[in-house]
Amino acid sequence: MKNTGSCLCKKLSFEVEKLQGPIGHCHCKMCQKFHGAAFSTFVEVKRSDFNWLSGEELLSSYHADNDTIRSFCSCCGSSLLFESKYNRSGSTIEIALAIFDSIEVIHADAHIYTESKVDWFDINDNLPQHRQYRT
Ligand SMILES: [Zn+2]
Ligand SMILES: [Zn+2]
Repeated sequence: MKNTGSCLCKKLSFEVEKLQGPIGHCHCKMCQKFHGAAFSTFVEVKRSDFNWLSGEELLSSYHADNDTIRSFCSCCGSSLLFESKYNRSGSTIEIALAIFDSIEVIHADAHIYTESKVDWFDINDNLPQHRQYRT
């Protein structure tokens, strides 16, 4: 089964052959700002498994001071992709999980960067919690 996703305005769409993982709920400050939410959920995939179906030319990027790149749709602003130097050296990319329209059955495996979790959200599941990145 193919995993497919799109942004809010639907101009950008993509497919992913295989969702490799890991899948983390990230509570870092940058994810909170980028998503406008308590935390982000990204799935890591191999670059070679990721293909644009439409709208790639609308992708805009924000290159942060910590050398991470966050990409979003320049039409509707949807948060789409994340990559760090570790992703670049491993030829992987991370995709915001909530933008998938069709997806295989998968689950997040951890909460990360809980040291900056917002006070107005309580973690009520039994997933491992890491104060920073996975150890
Ligand atoms: Zn869009
Ligand atoms: Zn984060």
